[in-house]
Amino acid sequence: MALKTTIYGWVANVKVLKKIAFVEAITNNDLTYTVIVVKKEQNPELWETAREIELGSAIKASGTYPEKSISKRGREFHADDIVVLNSPIDVMPLDPTGKTPAQIDTNLNYRYLALRFPEQRAIFSLRAKVVNACREFFIKNGFLEVHTPKICGAGAEGGATVFTLDYFGRTAFLAQSPQLYKQMLMAGVSRVYEIGPYFRAEKFSTARHLNESWGVDAEIAFIEDAEDVMNVLEKLILYVFDYLQENASKELETLGVSLKKPRSPFKRLSYSEAIEVASSQGSRVKYGEDLDTESEFAIGKAMEEEGYDAYFIYEYPWEIKPFYIMRKGNELSFAFDLDYRGLELASGGQREHRYHELIKNIKDKGLNPESFAFYLEAFKYGMPPHGGFGLGLDRLVMKIVNKKNIREVVLFPRDRQRLVP
Ligand code: ATP
Ligand code: MG
Repeated sequence: MALKTTIYGWVANVKVLKKIAFVEAITNNDLTYTVIVVKKEQNPELWETAREIELGSAIKASGTYPEKSISKRGREFHADDIVVLNSPIDVMPLDPTGKTPAQIDTNLNYRYLALRFPEQRAIFSLRAKVVNACREFFIKNGFLEVHTPKICGAGAEGGATVFTLDYFGRTAFLAQSPQLYKQMLMAGVSRVYEIGPYFRAEKFSTARHLNESWGVDAEIAFIEDAEDVMNVLEKLILYVFDYLQENASKELETLGVSLKKPRSPFKRLSYSEAIEVASSQGSRVKYGEDLDTESEFAIGKAMEEEGYDAYFIYEYPWEIKPFYIMRKGNELSFAFDLDYRGLELASGGQREHRYHELIKNIKDKGLNPESFAFYLEAFKYGMPPHGGFGLGLDRLVMKIVNKKNIREVVLFPRDRQRLVP
């Protein structure tokens, strides 16, 4: 005898075939429907209730799971009672059956309703697993998880891309990245990571930028060179792919994604080689400029032809990288980016750990060392050589699930237009 149980969920569809009512409901977190079956001849009253349930209602049903489930839509459940806990008081803004796909804006306005659909749920379930994978990787490799302040007294790289706020009469900033804090920590801890949000007041309207986004940041002390940092980032990315393959098959299947672990070792392209590749593909980017969307895309295509989804671009001109990056000679730097199929996923590099050189770098960027006094203080007491990276979580997930717009993988995105919900 099957055990009697109670299930809870939302009604996605109701079908009545002759004398059987089928109530399709999203009843749990595992991306499947439950098909609640009510037979008229067994329970005419309940059959009447079932066929009249409004789509979108929250319900509770008691009954049993039959040994054999013949429904293709989901696991069958034979109910002997159904209670409507609450039914919609307004027209559902999203088709409860999920048959008519909604515009992205509607999905964003009603994300909580969109999450009733397996496809949407799969995106966020997978996103959570990417975070799990990263955390597991860092723990296994001896990193300390840290949480640095998001309300700061100075901007990470200065400039106009910080949000300012009133902090009891003083001007404060929202963190653009954990950069300065994770570096300061290198004076006392040799490996840290942080998974958290950061804020940028950039007036972008692109499919890959948000004004609030999440980053996976790491910083490593006692490195020999930037290659040590690239290696950790490469291992992290491969770990995430392995982890998803093992732990997210359901999500990937629901999303129709066949995950391809990137070929490793990842290709390493110097910045000047990257410029050549971009130019040979018709991009107009010139040596000394930051890679724009067009050139990133062009490089991505060329790399794909060589069989590389993921590749590093290293040895950027110091001129176009932030002050904390260590110089390589006069012109170049120990900065790198990790790109995946034509999109920048991460930036990193070896940092300048020598106090006097760092001050010189700050001045060379036209910034005032006094504004960074709290940061510079940490460099006075045996700061070891170190380096790290900032990996865009939203972008990584967006690429894994093959979405064109970063907003699709962020629950409640913040861009210039969106401040609610
Ligand atoms: P881009 O050049 O693409 O604007 P960036 O070089 O300004 O990015 P970094 O400061 O290097 O960004 O930040 C580290 C990573 O964080 C980036 O590689 C990217 O994956 C992610 N990231 C940065 N800015 C944003 C943003 N506005 N929205 C979403 N992700 C971002
Ligand atoms: Mg970058």
